[in-house]
Amino acid sequence: MEELSVKGLIVKDVDFGENDKLLTIITEDKGKLTVTVKGGRSLKNKFISVAEAFTYGTFGVRKKTKFFYLFDADVTDDFYPIREDLVKMSLASYICDVANELALEEVADEALLKLTLNALYALAYKDYDTKIIKAAYEFKAASISGFMPEISGCSVCGREPEDDSFVNAASGTLICSDCMTKPTSVTGIDSSSIVLPLTASALSALRYLEEAPIQRFLSFRLTGDAGSFTNFCEKYLACHLEKELYTLSFYKSVLNV
Ligand SMILES: [Zn+2]
Repeated sequence: MEELSVKGLIVKDVDFGENDKLLTIITEDKGKLTVTVKGGRSLKNKFISVAEAFTYGTFGVRKKTKFFYLFDADVTDDFYPIREDLVKMSLASYICDVANELALEEVADEALLKLTLNALYALAYKDYDTKIIKAAYEFKAASISGFMPEISGCSVCGREPEDDSFVNAASGTLICSDCMTKPTSVTGIDSSSIVLPLTASALSALRYLEEAPIQRFLSFRLTGDAGSFTNFCEKYLACHLEKELYTLSFYKSVLNV
C-alpha cells in the first residue's frame, strides 16, 4: 500500500455509497485525483469540515489497488468568506467545475491550479466585481489550456481596429468594423461562427490577459460597459469546453433572484 502526500485544491465533493464521500482534488504534481473519504458524511468523521469543495491544503492519501483513500488533511485555506455569500459560492462552484473539466488525471497543470486558487482568493478576500473575476478566469483558463485567440489584428485585413470591433468566439479571431460589412465569402463567417461585438477597452483587457502572469490576472481596468468583455469570455470558454455546465446556469439563476 502506497502513501502519498499531495498539495492541492478540492474542486468537487459528492456523496458516495452509504456514508462515504468522493473528492476530486487538483494537485500540484499528480494532476487530478479522485479520493474516497470513508465515512466522510458522518458528523463524527474527522474530515467532515475539510472534505468539501474550495478546501486547499496538503492531503495524505493511501493508494489501494487503483483507488485513493484520505487519511490526513492539513488545511492551508478554505476561502471561508465565499461560503457566506450565495453569489460568491455559486461562482466558486462554477470556477471549480471549469477547473475540473480542464484538468487531466495524472497530468500536472500548475498554471490551472494557480489560476483557480488566485480566482478563489480574489472572490474570498478582495473587492473585485464578481463578473470581472468570472470573465477573466474564463478567458485565462481557456488560454492556458491551449485555446489561444488570434487578437493581434483583424483576421481579414490584418489592420489594428480603430474603434470597436467584432470577435468570433468559436475561432477566437478578430474582425474590424470595416471588414464586418464585407461579404461572408471574404470574412469567412459561416454558420459555426459566433460573432460578438467587442469594445476597444474589452480588446485591450483581453490582450492584457493573454500575456499577464497568473498572479496579476485581475490587474486590468475596463472603461465603459463591461458587457462585451464578459459575454465574449463566457462564450469563448463554452466553445472550448463544448458543453454547458450546470454550475453556470445555477450561478446565473442566483444572479436573477
Ligand atoms: Zn479588417
